[in-house]
Amino acid sequence: MEVMKGKTDTQIIFIRLDPDEDVLECLKKMIDNEKIKNGVVLTGLGCLKKCHFHQADLGNPPSLIGRRQNFINLEGTYEVSSLSGIIADGEPHLHITFGHEDKAYSGHLESGSIVSILFEMTVLKVNASIKRVYSSGQEMIKQLTKK
Ligand SMILES: [Zn+2]
Repeated sequence: MEVMKGKTDTQIIFIRLDPDEDVLECLKKMIDNEKIKNGVVLTGLGCLKKCHFHQADLGNPPSLIGRRQNFINLEGTYEVSSLSGIIADGEPHLHITFGHEDKAYSGHLESGSIVSILFEMTVLKVNASIKRVYSSGQEMIKQLTKK
């Protein structure tokens, strides 16, 4: 385990997305515009008409070498109950939970997730020195570490 502490100067940012906007692309644009290096996506909620995400399948027993990523594209009416993640060195990593009627889905958010009616997010911009790097001995896994 590695613990990375932020400093005390933080800023909360509230974001409203409009119909037909791409959640991840808008977040990336906001990260660039606001020059956010590190932060936490605290909340994300609203309605999507398309959701593109992937789920990691590590197999049984779990193995990084044999793992697969199952990419899933859904179109319909979806209520997002949770979106959260970490921005490290300007790079967001977000996971989403959403559903429709008696089905719920979760996974790693990809570009192509499109707002239907409304979507709101909060991002906490923090002063920290973190980044993601490919770890030795862990095939193709970017891990959070001190910068
Ligand atoms: Zn992920």
